[in-house]
Amino acid sequence: MAKRDYYEVLGVSKTATEDEIKKAYRKIALQNHPDTHPNDKDAEERFKEASEAYEVLSDPKKRSTYDQFGFSGMNGFQGGAAGNYSNVYRDFSDIFGGAGGFEDIFSSFFGGGSRRRQGGSTRMAGATLSYNLTIDLKEAVFGCKKEIAFSHNVICPSCHGQGGTGRHTCPSCGGTGRQVQGGGFFQITSTCRTCGGTGSVVDNPCASCHGTGFQSQSQKLAINIPAGAFDGLQLSLRGKGDAGRDGGPDGDLIVNISVRPDKYFKREDDDLIIQMPISIAKATLGGSLNVPTIDGTTAVINVDAGTQSGSMLRLKGKGVPSMRTGRRGDMYVRLVVNIPRRLSFKAKGLMKELAAELKETDSPEPMEYNG
Ligand SMILES: [Zn+2]
Ligand SMILES: [Zn+2]
Repeated sequence: MAKRDYYEVLGVSKTATEDEIKKAYRKIALQNHPDTHPNDKDAEERFKEASEAYEVLSDPKKRSTYDQFGFSGMNGFQGGAAGNYSNVYRDFSDIFGGAGGFEDIFSSFFGGGSRRRQGGSTRMAGATLSYNLTIDLKEAVFGCKKEIAFSHNVICPSCHGQGGTGRHTCPSCGGTGRQVQGGGFFQITSTCRTCGGTGSVVDNPCASCHGTGFQSQSQKLAINIPAGAFDGLQLSLRGKGDAGRDGGPDGDLIVNISVRPDKYFKREDDDLIIQMPISIAKATLGGSLNVPTIDGTTAVINVDAGTQSGSMLRLKGKGVPSMRTGRRGDMYVRLVVNIPRRLSFKAKGLMKELAAELKETDSPEPMEYNG
């Protein structure tokens, strides 16, 4: 996407005053701030775009450079203005000017303070784990059962997940599980290092789990790969990831399927393609050809007389079953005429004889493109 003019981004004129620029930015930032629009990519983009524009236009020096040289002039500034809105983040207290600014709006959106941990509970969902599994094409086509082994966190049996005795509110974060840095309304919060985000600590940590409340345990699982599985398929096994804390839900296990390329069969969606060599004689005279299928059987196909190199023949229903409908795709046989590199004395003679019979010429007509 082309970069939009900074004035256009903020919706102000080229002669806008500092105050007008600040006001315009304040409005856009409030409407699109990532804190109020989590996971909204569009809002995030607008916010970044506006922040970048504001960073430049609020600085008289940068603004005059931009006015003269446009975006190309901005490269001279440290790191360029592009994508770097951390500076703006820091200046928010200035933008929203003291009490009653952003936080009021925040409260009205969320009914107040919902970002904070409720009642000191340490309930947390377990982590989602991922496992990479490579299978053969044949296994993907017909489905298979695979046993996988992996480690995941389970609740520590010694302390039943309590992590020890004498649990009390974490003194570092006061039970929020978060550490807050910076002032104003745009503070940077991070997970509390003392309690690891749980909001509480124990006096006597459990010896088995060192106070974490979890133990790593290896697990074996038999998983069913559906027929028609494809490279990049993700299977989600609910609750097979890490255990949750304090009754929080267990995480999932995501199995990422990779399909090993096959020596002979190439897959295209639900179709399979195989290449078979045929001799000049068979291409010319026609005949039958035995072709292996993914099923492990042999299909006998008829090569027509006068078959050209690169011709495709279709075997219906010998492809990959669709994961949705179960209906099998087709198999295509690409015939490649094999030109012998070495000929016996006799074969050479016969070939010369054939060339004479076919009135071999050094000046054939060029081939037409038939689209
Ligand atoms: Zn324990
Ligand atoms: Zn803490």
